Amino acid sequence: MATDGSPSADRPGRYAGGIVRRASRLGWLRVVLLHPVIARPGFWFATACGWAWGAVLGRFRLRRAGRLVVASGLPKWAYGQGGTTIGAVYLTTDNAGPSVLEHEAVHAAQWKKYGLAFIPLYLDAGQDARHNRFEIEAGLAKGGYGR
Ligand SMILES: [Zn+2]
Repeated sequence: MATDGSPSADRPGRYAGGIVRRASRLGWLRVVLLHPVIARPGFWFATACGWAWGAVLGRFRLRRAGRLVVASGLPKWAYGQGGTTIGAVYLTTDNAGPSVLEHEAVHAAQWKKYGLAFIPLYLDAGQDARHNRFEIEAGLAKGGYGR
């Protein structure tokens, strides 16, 4: 996932960050939200949403690539930058080379670990991919950042 990095684009990130910071003060809430019993259904829900979005907008051009489902042929407005992973579904037009898929598979694993909490956690990690811990973990070069 990625955005353009402009200052106004970071507003949702700061808002989400506030929520995450307040929640993380309540350690028990973090434990509950990130527990697999809560996180896993969130991952499934995100995957179902990504699948539906990719299937409809990509006219059912879905294929498996390891643990990822790749939905290609989507219009460019239907995802961020070169592609976006929602749950286990990678949405793109045609940006699906091997290194990109490796990068997106890490995002799918992050979705699986954090469930729906991945959304505010990702936004809180910052809009600049070079400093976003989830993008760094997925591999900046593989994701097409920093070239
Ligand atoms: Zn990424």
